Amino acid sequence: MRVHILLGAPGCGKGTAAKQLVQQFALIHLSTGDILRDAVSKGTEIGLRAKAIMAAGKLVDDDTVNGLVFARLQGETGNVLFDGYPRTLQQAEALGDFLSSQGIELGLVVDIEVPESVLEARVVGRRVCSNADCGAIYHLQSMPPKVEGVCDKCGSSLKHRADDTSEAFNSRMVEFNKTFQPMAGFYKAGTQYRNVDGNRKPDQVFESLIQIFKEHA
Ligand code: ADP
Repeated sequence: MRVHILLGAPGCGKGTAAKQLVQQFALIHLSTGDILRDAVSKGTEIGLRAKAIMAAGKLVDDDTVNGLVFARLQGETGNVLFDGYPRTLQQAEALGDFLSSQGIELGLVVDIEVPESVLEARVVGRRVCSNADCGAIYHLQSMPPKVEGVCDKCGSSLKHRADDTSEAFNSRMVEFNKTFQPMAGFYKAGTQYRNVDGNRKPDQVFESLIQIFKEHA
C-alpha cells in the first residue's frame, strides 16, 4: 500500500484532477474537504465544530483532521490519493510518523501550481454536484453543465459551496499562504516531489499527471 499526495492552493484543480486520477489508476480518493463536509451535513460532533470554521475559510485544527485521516487509513489496503491533506507542517509530520508506524510507503507528492491571480475566479464560479456520491465539479464559464444547475453525470442539482465566496476565498488564501510553504518544504527535498503547471485546461493538466503517475504510481 502507498499513499500519494496532491498539493496546491484552493481552486488549483486538485479535486478535479483527483477524480480523474483515481479512475485511471484505481486509487482510493481521500479528500479531507469531502470528509469534513460529510461530517457537517450529517451533523456529527466534528461536523458541528467544523461548520463555521470551514464556511469562514479557516483551517480545522490539526488533531481533528489527522484523527479523521488516520481512522480512514486503518484497514485500508489499496493505494490512496490525498486531496487537501496534509495542509500544515504539523499534518505532514504527523502523517509521516503514522505511515512509518504502519509500514505504509509514501508515493508521489504532486504540487499543482496556479498563479494566485486566477484562483478567485475559479473558486467563485465553481459549482459542485449536491449528490456526495457523485461530487462532479463544474465552472459557470469554463466547464458549464449542459443544463443550468443540473449535474450532467447524475442529474442532481448543483450547489455553490459555502466557502466558494470571494470573502471566504480571501481568508482561505491567507491560511494557504501561511501554511503552504513550510508544509511543501517538508516534501520538496524528497525524491517523491513533482510539480505541474495547473494554469491550463483540465485535460492538459490531467495529461501531465498521467505521465507522472504512469511512471511512479
Ligand atoms: P480547497 O482545497 O479548495 O480549499 P477543500 O474541499 O480541500 O477545498 O477544503 C475545504 C475546507 O475544509 C478548508 O477550507 C478547511 O476549512 C477544511 N479542510 C480541508 N482539509 C483540511 C486540512 N487538511 N486541514 C485543515 N482543514 C481542512
